[in-house]
Parts: sequence; C-alpha cells; structure tokens
Amino acid sequence: RIAYVNGRYVRHAEAAVHIEDRGYQFADGVYEVCEIWRGKVVDERRHLDRLERSLRELSIAMPMSRAALAQVMREVIRRNRVQSGIVYLQVTRGVARRDHVFPPAGTKPALVITSRAVRPEVGDKAAEAGVGVITVPENRWERVDIKSVGLLPNVLVKQKAKEAGAKEAWFVDADGFVTEGGSTNAWIITTDNTLVTRPAEHGILAGITRRVVLDMIEREGLSFDERPFTVEEAKNAKEAFITAATTLVMPVVKVDDTVIGNGHPGSFASELRSKFHEVSELEPV
Ligand code: PLP
Repeated sequence: RIAYVNGRYVRHAEAAVHIEDRGYQFADGVYEVCEIWRGKVVDERRHLDRLERSLRELSIAMPMSRAALAQVMREVIRRNRVQSGIVYLQVTRGVARRDHVFPPAGTKPALVITSRAVRPEVGDKAAEAGVGVITVPENRWERVDIKSVGLLPNVLVKQKAKEAGAKEAWFVDADGFVTEGGSTNAWIITTDNTLVTRPAEHGILAGITRRVVLDMIEREGLSFDERPFTVEEAKNAKEAFITAATTLVMPVVKVDDTVIGNGHPGSFASELRSKFHEVSELEPV
C-alpha cells in the first residue's frame, strides 16, 4: 500500500508524520472520507466543499489548490488499485514547536491521503441483517459541524456500542433528542411513512450521505420532515437507519433493548440503500 504524506508517495507501512504535527499534539486538523464505488469517487465535490469549509472555520489554509488535491487523491487511489473502498484525507495546521496559539505565519498545513479497499459484500451483509444502536448522553463540543480529527467522545461511545454488541451509539441531547451517531447521521421513519432526520444547522455534522438521501427522498416524492426526534419516537418508529459515506444507508433494527418494527430491515431503508448510487455523483478516477 502507498500513502501520500506531505509531498511524497511513500509505503504505507513506513508512512509517518512529525511528532510536533499539530494534529498529533492538539487534534488541530480536519478530515474527509469518500467512498470509492466501482472505480469512481462518490460525491467528491461535496466532500471537498465540506473539507474547505471545515478548514475555513478553523483558519487553516488549503494545503494545495483544490484541483491539485483532487489529482493527488486520484493518484493515491490509482497506486493502491482501489476499485471499491475508501479514500481518507487529513489536513492539520502543520508542524511547529508545541504552543497552543497558531504557529508562525508561513507554517505549511500538513496533508495525508490514504486509500484502502473494502469489499462491498461486508456492508451489504450487515445491511441484510440490520444493526443495533445504543443511546448515550451528548457530551461533545458545539462545533461538531466541523469535521475535526478530535474524536475522543466518538471513540469512547463507539467502543461502548461495540461492547454492548451494537454497531453505533446515538448521542442524545439534554432535551432527549437524538443528535447523531458516533460516525453516522440518524434517521427514523414514522408509522405514517414520514422520514425524519435532524436539521443540519445545529448539533450534527452535515453528512454528505444524509444530503444525498434527502435528494433521493425528494426525487421519489416521499414525505419527510427535517426536525429533531426523541429516543422514545425512535423506539416506536416503523423503521430507523443510519447514514455515512462508509456505511451508506444502514438499517437499524434495535435501539437500546427495543426492537424496531418487526426486527428486520425496513423496506424504505433497503430501497434507499439500493438506489443510493443512482443519485450520488460519481467521478472517474
Ligand atoms: N456524523 C459524524 C459524527 C460522522 O463522523 C460522519 C462521518 O464520518 C457522519 C455523520 C456522516 O457523514 P458522511 O455522510 O459525510 O460520511
């Protein structure tokens, strides 16, 4: 495997960043993950838009032009011969002597890009059975709209989910509303067939997969409501699912100890999953 690290294509096993990298020191950086499907990059434009936004919010410069970034990303995918899998981009504020304030002007942002194959059957298998989620108190900062590499709360709840035999943990805010999962957005379908997901303005990362699913819902003329929903509502829902670039649309069949619907993936979630790549933008590598 090959990785791109600050201007060089290096063997993945030996790829390394400096110990004074601010990503390592302060989690002072952001990332993106795009799916690669049948040799195409999925929703690249939106992922790069979000990367630029995350960087802007933190006053970190783009490490190179967007066009150059897209080219390096392609080169990493090509060199790893990935047809199905993911490409990961991470940008940090760069390498400087440890000091909380921004480093001196001229410090170059650091860029790492990796790519690896993931067999599509793995996700499809999970989607056939559906997954469980647990609920946990929201304890993250208010700027979760920034796709920061500071993911400690997410790490802890994902581990807790794993130990409980679940796939994801849903953060629940002080008012009892689900915000989102540790690495996914959260959805329910009410008994009157309305798709519900929290508005992207507050408390969640504006997921690209979420956006594409909303486009799909509009295209199909399904009824939807962008509003927060409670854990109680989720437990009484007809269906539930989670979305992310790496999991696509993944049916949820259990919330804590409550079985959703008949305990099998619902027809809406399965349909949205199967049609996803008809609506997403596919860019050739
Ligand atoms: N929410 C969080 C906290 C995430 O980390 C992610 C993706 O990693 C998502 C939502 C889903 O975003 P996307 O659909 O862009 O992958």
